[in-house]
Parts: sequence; C-alpha cells; structure tokens
Amino acid sequence: MNLAASLKAGDRRALAKAITLIESTRADHREQADALLTALMPATGGALRLGISGVPGVGKSTFIEALGCFLLEQGHRVAVLTVDPSSSVSGGAILGDKTRMEKLSMDTRAFIRPSPSSGTLGGVAEKTREAMLLCEAAGYDVVIVETVGVGQSETAVAGMTDLYLLLQLPNAGDDLQAIKKGVMELADLVVINKADLDDVAATRAQAQITSALRLLPTHAHATQRVMKVSALKADGIAPVWEALTALRAASEASGAWASKRREQSLAWMWSRIQSGLKQAFVAHPGVQAQLDATTAAVRDGRTPASAAARQLLATFRNASS
Ligand code: GDP
Repeated sequence: MNLAASLKAGDRRALAKAITLIESTRADHREQADALLTALMPATGGALRLGISGVPGVGKSTFIEALGCFLLEQGHRVAVLTVDPSSSVSGGAILGDKTRMEKLSMDTRAFIRPSPSSGTLGGVAEKTREAMLLCEAAGYDVVIVETVGVGQSETAVAGMTDLYLLLQLPNAGDDLQAIKKGVMELADLVVINKADLDDVAATRAQAQITSALRLLPTHAHATQRVMKVSALKADGIAPVWEALTALRAASEASGAWASKRREQSLAWMWSRIQSGLKQAFVAHPGVQAQLDATTAAVRDGRTPASAAARQLLATFRNASS
C-alpha cells in the first residue's frame, strides 16, 4: 500500500511518516508532500478543529488529557498537535516534555504529535495546519491544536481552527492581560481552570470575564461562553464539550462554519504566496546587489521607505519579466 492509502486506512505509523514528510524542508520532499496532500484532500475536512491556548501552567495538558479521554469514551478519535514557537528557538519546547498527557498518549485511539521544531512561527503554524489535514484524512474526528499563550501563536492557531478555547486561571490579572492583547476576542469559549483550588475566585473571574466579553461587539451573548472546570479532577468537562457542540451546530446552521473554513484556506494560500514571493525577492541577484545599500539608506533616513521599496520592486520585476 502506498503512504496515502495506509494513512487513510488509519495506520498511525503512516500518519507519523506523512507528517515528517510535510515537515521536511527539502525541495523534493515538499513536492511529494504537496502531492500527498492533494491526493488526500477529498478525505479531509471531517473533523472538529479545536484550538486551545493559555499561559504556561494554566493546565493545558491536564485539560486536553481530560477532554481527550472523555471524547475517546464517547467513541471519538482524537489527535493533538501543538504550535510551540519556543521549540525552534531553544530546542527545548515549552510544550514538549514527554510526561504530558500520559494517559492519552498511551491510548491507541489518540494521536499526539509535538510541535515542528524548526522555522519561524508562520512556518511552524503552516506545518501544523498541514498535519491537521493529514490527521483528518486518517480518520481523527476531533483535532486539537494547542499553543502557549505567549506572543502571536494564538492568532495563528485561531486562524486554522473552527473553534478556539482560551484557558484562564481564576485570577483577574491574567484576564486583563488577555483582553489587552486581544486574545479574548478570538475566543469562542473561555474556560477558567483550577476551580477546585478556589471556587469563589473562579466564580468571580467568570463574572468579570463575562462582563468584559459583553463589551466586545462579537460577543454580545457572552453568558454561555465562560465556564469553569477542574481539569485535574476532570470536573466540568462534559459541559465544555456540550458548549462546543452547540456552538458548532449554530455555526453550521447559519453557514458561518463553511464560510470560515473557505476564508481560512484562502488566507493560507495567500500567506504561502507572500512567503514564496518574499523568498524569491531576497534571493534575486539584482535585489541582493542593492539590498544592503538601500537598507542602510532607509535606516539612516536618507531615502524614504516607500521610494526604496518601489525601486527594489522595480529591479525584481524587470529582471523577472
Ligand atoms: P500547561 O503548562 O498549561 O500545560 O499546564 P499543566 O497541564 O502542565 O498544569 C500545570 C500544573 O497545574 C500541574 O501541576 C497540574 O497538575 C496543575 N493543574 C492543572 N489543572 C489543574 C486543576 O484543575 N486543578 C489543580 N488544582 N491543579 C491543576
């Protein structure tokens, strides 16, 4: 059987191998990866794509373990992917240690794959998005994409998933941070974790976040969208899943679900075109010959940025036409 067929038959090793292929930066691998993705395209799209983020220590892996085990019991097949921009910088991932999600990682009905370990955030996110499609083709019907709540990775993950869940600690300081950063706006569901430690604080945080969300135009009906759980005690997990299912049903009924996916696909295509163009641009001999001097001129305030850009683009265009 070829790789695509083994993968579709649910062979986990074939899936792991296919993900390694899409993560490769070799040009011939990239071609094979594109051929594989194209062949598998009809088998993709069937999963609920769920983004989950939160600051380190909020309980992401504990929550995903609890939710994942709950879903397996319900007969779902669960894949967990991560976008961890730190792994490419330090080699040591924030999300990467092996003890995470112990039960889930031992269960053959689940598939867990750590973040690609090299590349920019955009590159890492793109590989994860492709890995998500491969997981769908392999029959996983819930694909969770996890990321740390630092930097821009939340936006990237929200841009590749259907629903985005933000985990919060039961204290207001973090909530204000998330609102300031605009992350809260991305969230379809805010889940306050560790309610077992201090239920009063968790309830207060729930009220605070609910009223903060109501001020956002996209979240006029915020009441159902802030929940509290204890991931450690697997308490409150079923209501979270019910809320996600209800959000999905409403979004499918209105057509928003499908249109969001279409927009996401187009956005990924354009981001790929942009990065391809930029690579071609900086690799262009004519541009390379001018780039240092022009960069210095803009930096020192001798040439306006707009004029410099126009001139470099003209060089690029002339020589490539
Ligand atoms: P992550 O960094 O966001 O993935 O967080 P972890 O899942 O590794 O959890 C960080 C710490 O918080 C661990 O020691 C967990 O056992 C603990 N923790 C996670 N969820 C809960 C919870 O609901 N209640 C309590 N009391 N502790 C929790």
